[in-house]
Amino acid sequence: MDDNFSDIPIEFLKGVGPQRAELLRNESNIYKFGDLLTYYPFRYVDRSKFYKISELNDDLPYVQLIGKIIDIELLGKNTSSRLVANFTDGTGIIELIWFKGIKWIKDSIKKNTLYIVFGKATSFKGIFNIAHPEIELANDENLKIISSLQPVYNSTEKLKSKGLDSKGISKLIRQLFNHPDFYLHETLNKNLINNLKFISKREALINIHLPKNFEYLIQAQRRLKFEELFFIQLKILRQQYDRKNYIKGYVFDKVGNYFNSFYNNNLKFELTNAQKRVIKEIRFDFKSGKQMNRLLQGDVGSGKTLVALMVMLIALDNNFQACLMAPTEILAIQHFNTISKFLNGLDIYISLLTGSTKSSQRKIISENLQNGSLQILIGTHALIEDNVQFKSLGISVIDEQHRFGVEQRSKLWKKSSAYPHVLVMTATPIPRTLAMTLYGDLDVSIIDELPPGRKPIKTIHKYDSSRLRVFGFMKEQISKGRQVYVVYPLINESETLDLKHLMDGYDSITKEFPLPEYAVSIVHGQMKPADKDYEMDRFKRGETQIMVATTVIEVGVDVPNASVMIIENAERFGLAQLHQLRGRVGRGNDQSYCILMTSDKLSTDGKVRIETMVKTNDGFEIADVDLKLRGPGNIEGTQQSGVLDLKLADLSKDAQMLQYARKIASEILNDDPDLNKEDNLILKRQLNLLNKNRKNWSLIS
Ligand code: ADP
Ligand code: MG
Repeated sequence: MDDNFSDIPIEFLKGVGPQRAELLRNESNIYKFGDLLTYYPFRYVDRSKFYKISELNDDLPYVQLIGKIIDIELLGKNTSSRLVANFTDGTGIIELIWFKGIKWIKDSIKKNTLYIVFGKATSFKGIFNIAHPEIELANDENLKIISSLQPVYNSTEKLKSKGLDSKGISKLIRQLFNHPDFYLHETLNKNLINNLKFISKREALINIHLPKNFEYLIQAQRRLKFEELFFIQLKILRQQYDRKNYIKGYVFDKVGNYFNSFYNNNLKFELTNAQKRVIKEIRFDFKSGKQMNRLLQGDVGSGKTLVALMVMLIALDNNFQACLMAPTEILAIQHFNTISKFLNGLDIYISLLTGSTKSSQRKIISENLQNGSLQILIGTHALIEDNVQFKSLGISVIDEQHRFGVEQRSKLWKKSSAYPHVLVMTATPIPRTLAMTLYGDLDVSIIDELPPGRKPIKTIHKYDSSRLRVFGFMKEQISKGRQVYVVYPLINESETLDLKHLMDGYDSITKEFPLPEYAVSIVHGQMKPADKDYEMDRFKRGETQIMVATTVIEVGVDVPNASVMIIENAERFGLAQLHQLRGRVGRGNDQSYCILMTSDKLSTDGKVRIETMVKTNDGFEIADVDLKLRGPGNIEGTQQSGVLDLKLADLSKDAQMLQYARKIASEILNDDPDLNKEDNLILKRQLNLLNKNRKNWSLIS
């Protein structure tokens, strides 16, 4: 049996001519029968209940009535004309009113005939009326179709103009089910269907479009959502399996001098338990003979960079080179400085390569990379340029992963004859469900513990109107020797208006905090790198007490003495960004504060964002709220994944289902990795089909 039915072009459906077919293709991506079958309703209207006119009240949402029109009259003139019909079901009378399409309705409506009427009833001077009701003859067929859960489909103006509004689409789908060749093969295996008590594929599809009742709808949704998530997980886990089994990795079985002398002589503090655990996990990968592809998640300040450094040292101990790629020049320089300092006294050759590295220096770097003497290279995107070639790159560390695309990451692989191990670090917590889907084929390590002595940051929401008090608070903190960030949104670095806000803010701060008692730094994206560095350095050295900046400082700046983060127009920042910014403070031993300044008026979303920040410091919790607010399509990194193709499942709501689907997929693959067992062949077939249809489903790593 094959699946020809789903592949039949849409113009062959009764009721779809070439014109409608063209529209369906252009407006809704419906090319084939199968596309229409999976054009699911986005909601349902419960039309199972008929109200009595005597029951009506103003609080009811939409109501459905059945009765007759007893008279119909055209009232008013010209622009104010309207058609008013008196409608009764024997328990009372209401008015049906039309302002548009009057002539057509007047001609088509029959008196003393049973109609089903649906709409919002409002009362006016004691009489209920429904404006522009949906109205349909109460014949047997309509009663059967209507008096149930009615699907509501997305449509567009163009589709509507050709009769393909929600109802029109529903009609087409019923045509599919009535088609003489209607056939759907099963896509899940018997075991799953039995164990999870699923209804069949056929039943599920019919009931998602035309639910027999609420119970059936739930069953249909449950099965189809599961299936959607399950096959994505099956695919991801298969990829992971292939990688682990077919892609060899360098074996680093030695922990030698570099690592040990760093650990014994240079490291001034104890590693946290979480850091120790992650290093162990990575060492296990190093010994496995398989290429490592690991995502390291941990909040800002949790000590990821140190972990990265230590595992790079293991690569060096095994005579390999290492590189670390950062998303911005500032961050690359900072990494270079911190790591150089950490390695003080060890005989390790380390260099920095960014866009502004001079060509003479580039030449030296290039030579020494190729002869192998340069051991650790730190840099920006400049690292992935084609002319950067290593002698033996053993590990690539990518910091703040969310800014690098899949393409860029894969380029780092090609820097050597074989694949280096890859460690991706991110401090922007990715919502769990998204991570499972986006990075589902990566192994994940989590640092869920901050170095000891850190006090949780106190987050406070203040309205612009209490600015004077905020200034007072800044003075108090500065008098204790602390430093303060004031951050302005600069969503688009070229926005002159945003830049003006920043400069105005800077002016008012320099007035409030005048020389010589105070000194204020400023950093924004339109400054020359040298000027930025100069200002940044003054702040780091404590020569200025206040740093006025744009989100340039979002990532990575490390000034432990800074204990206050003031975010201006906080309502304009996304949650991930707010969380990142807040992570700039709380790095020293002092109590730190994050003050979110907003205007007095906040949107509903803005309010939720601010409240979330005030309530929690937990990056994962914040990420989950972010996902709920914005939907997966707007979270960075989702574009290249399959998650946006989800038709039914919703990663912000179906987390449990996803977890479950992943677990089941993993159990099946553990037992039968190639899906060759009789009962699993059906899964293999469907997986191949989906792979074929989803060409741009790029590999994540
Ligand atoms: P991340 O990269 O996760 O944001 P970093 O590696 O930059 O965090 O660490 C933040 C700060 O904490 C750095 O100053 C680092 O030296 C310090 N640090 C890291 N690990 C520890 C630890 N176990 N104990 C004390 N301080 C630590
Ligand atoms: Mg970091």
